Amino acid sequence: MSSQNPVFIPGPTNMPEAVRKACDIPTLDHRSPAFAKVLNPCIEGVRKVVKSENAEIFIFPSTGTGGWETAITNTLSPGDGVLAARNGMFSHRWIDMCRRHGLDVTVVETPWGAGIPADRYEEILTADREHRIKVVLATHNETATGVRSDIAAVRRAIDAAGHPALLFVDGVSSIGSMDFRMDEWGVDVAVTGSQKGFMLPPGLAITAFSKRAMEAVESAKLPRTYFDVRDMATGYPKGGYPYTPAVGLMNGLRFSCGLLLEEGLENVFARHRRIAEGVRAAVSAWGMKLCAQSPDLYSDTVSAILTPEGFDANKIVNHAASAYDVAFGIGLGDVAGKLFRIGHLGSLTDVMALSGIATAEMVMADLGLPVRLGSGVAAAQEVYRANGAHARKAAA
Ligand SMILES: *Cc1c(COP(=O)(O)O)cnc(C)c1O
Repeated sequence: MSSQNPVFIPGPTNMPEAVRKACDIPTLDHRSPAFAKVLNPCIEGVRKVVKSENAEIFIFPSTGTGGWETAITNTLSPGDGVLAARNGMFSHRWIDMCRRHGLDVTVVETPWGAGIPADRYEEILTADREHRIKVVLATHNETATGVRSDIAAVRRAIDAAGHPALLFVDGVSSIGSMDFRMDEWGVDVAVTGSQKGFMLPPGLAITAFSKRAMEAVESAKLPRTYFDVRDMATGYPKGGYPYTPAVGLMNGLRFSCGLLLEEGLENVFARHRRIAEGVRAAVSAWGMKLCAQSPDLYSDTVSAILTPEGFDANKIVNHAASAYDVAFGIGLGDVAGKLFRIGHLGSLTDVMALSGIATAEMVMADLGLPVRLGSGVAAAQEVYRANGAHARKAAA
């Protein structure tokens, strides 16, 4: 059985007890009016979380990967041009999926640890006079490297090139944890899943389509059945679904949207920022560096920590699991063995984060890395104490 230790992987994330309970409901007939009482608040809640007035929200029994497939198969035709930067494992996988669907992907190879080069996007789009490129992909938060890219800058690049391409954003490890502005950034399809910022078990693909994306659905020729948003769109107004929805998870989603909105999105983002700053303070106290190349790229949901040359970073993750029953993230793809990741998104407090930092110290000390016990914890405590200062003042 699992212990009560929190996990420090960047998804699936820790679940609030109340969210878990909300997923546990008696069997409900999804053809009855009772289902609309689950579905409609999910749609409204997700729309608020992605900051959109009118986006169409589609929720599938699937995961984030199914959300990628929903985005491309509903809007594109075989041979269509796609522009994407590859700067980590998740952007790589979305590119791979596009190619397997017969799309013509222009890949901007980008160092793992760097953000999306919006200036390169602008050059490529400006040169694409025939508008062969139909869609621009952007991974908002590259979970493999702990890099957050500037989506507003990608939108500016598209506009500066005067290009009509749609903008699709993978927000799987950012939405609900870091600021995401679908309407303001002109995002046409936003993709996420249930098991990250929404603090739910895995099992839902959550997508948001703009009006322009919905127009593209009409002419798209890639085959799609299970993920066809038109079937969803015709069922929704009647509170219905084209097949059996994951009702329990959706009841959980209804609830978790409520929690996020009750805490206040800006407060949720500030909490993630503060917890991340504590982790980053610990990393620098350890004398270690993040994979993310500069502070403007630092992710507030996951930190990818480079280990010394010649040291196998996977040993940290394995030892943490076997000796302390704590989960950290391994390095993926090009950075496998070179870094480990501390996930710090979802249902997490300063106090929980301290336990993860303390565990990482024990693990690294056990493995002979030159980390002084308590050094990272103390650095993070200073960050978290500074935040507690208002409360202390009020109590005095
Ligand atoms: C987790 C993740 C995915 C994949 O989602 P699954 O739910 O595992 O299919 C995609 N993109 C990013 C950025 C992720 O963090």
